[in-house]
Amino acid sequence: MRHNPSHHRRTPGRRLRAVAGAAAAGSLAAAGLVALAAGPATAATWSGSCSAGYVGLTFDDGPTAGNTTNLVSILTSNGATATVFPEGQNVQAHPDLLRAYQQAGLTIGNHTWDHPHMTQLSQSDMSSEISRTQSVIQQTIGSAPQLFRPPYGETSSTLKSVESQYGLREVIWDVDSQDWNGASASAIRSAAGRLTNGQVILMHDWPANTLSALPGIFSDLKSRNLCPGVVSASTGRAVAPSGSSGGGSTGGGGSTGGGSSSGCTVSLTKSGDWSDRFNVTASVSGSSAWTVTLNLGSGQSLQNSWNANVTSSGSTLTATPNGSGNSFGVTLYKNGNSNLPTASCNASGSGGSTGGGSTGGGGSSACTVSLTKANDWSDRFNVSATVSGSSSWTVKVTLGSGQSLQNSWNATVTSSGSTLTATPNGSGNTFGFTLYKNGNGNVPTATCS
Ligand SMILES: [Zn+2]
Repeated sequence: MRHNPSHHRRTPGRRLRAVAGAAAAGSLAAAGLVALAAGPATAATWSGSCSAGYVGLTFDDGPTAGNTTNLVSILTSNGATATVFPEGQNVQAHPDLLRAYQQAGLTIGNHTWDHPHMTQLSQSDMSSEISRTQSVIQQTIGSAPQLFRPPYGETSSTLKSVESQYGLREVIWDVDSQDWNGASASAIRSAAGRLTNGQVILMHDWPANTLSALPGIFSDLKSRNLCPGVVSASTGRAVAPSGSSGGGSTGGGGSTGGGSSSGCTVSLTKSGDWSDRFNVTASVSGSSAWTVTLNLGSGQSLQNSWNANVTSSGSTLTATPNGSGNSFGVTLYKNGNSNLPTASCNASGSGGSTGGGSTGGGGSSACTVSLTKANDWSDRFNVSATVSGSSSWTVKVTLGSGQSLQNSWNATVTSSGSTLTATPNGSGNTFGFTLYKNGNGNVPTATCS
């Protein structure tokens, strides 16, 4: 996604992309990387521990002749998965490169046909941008995307309603690598260093510096026990890849299971698998104040857990939020049984839009929120808010003079005068909003309770 206002004019953006593509091969050689021959590479296995969770690496605007093959080679040779958001017009021009994404096991989203400012289009033109892209991807690889990223991160309630007509989950980002803006490889690498479990980073399938940054990014993730994951179509958060990543829409069969009962749903995915034990990633949707019960199979026992409070009693595990969002994981000893356990979810508290639900057990007001400015345009800017200490929070944002709300994502946000009130909507503990500046570009203040 190119946010520089100069890219409102298409021609300079085209020239920039062409230059970046031509430079990619030379830059790779300079970095000492091996560019594999075209064709399906044999995927390596990610060699790091995933005990700290998963992050979503995303690459927009492809496929790009001269770049996509190198990107796919770097990802597969490192055993790394990723999510790509191609433009329909580029898919039409390079269907072979879309298939290269698919053969590498990447998740393929929709990034419109030709990268317009979607919020400036009529509803029918929005629909056309999305449907043409769904169709060309479906025709090329046999399945249609479930994820959609609007160009420039610009969205609106009208656009969201069009997305929902196509069953698409909107995915913005938590961290902007600024690779579209000429960031150096080391700056892109350090941006990725800010990723935490479940978060998504914006990168692109055309800058040479992005290719150069990837080996360092992988090295850093390994040292932090984070792994490249997939972006969940139900939560928009990065989660463990399933055993069968089709690269397309369905996610298919394989090692997934789950269940639901009241007010929330949990899905289980097998992630790491060793001879004596395996990892299970659980993603909860529908509530942020949940209790998940896992019924272990015969012989199985708990080794370890992360991102939730997990207790074990007999063959039952009980998990509740610990402030790390709505995805958590456990490691189970197999003792000869490698079947996924079954799970059910119960929401505590009212999951409604005004509620937030008390989790009980006290201390539910102990949370903190930090705001950072994400994207910045002449008339408005994005703010990313990260809550820690609780999954059942209410954040009050006090806008600066003149500022007003344009849009929000990953939380239920209401506006009254100069105060915004945000509560969880099941997308985890990071949310964002776009503010009109009206001459005031200061980041607002916020409190959490
Ligand atoms: Zn883009």
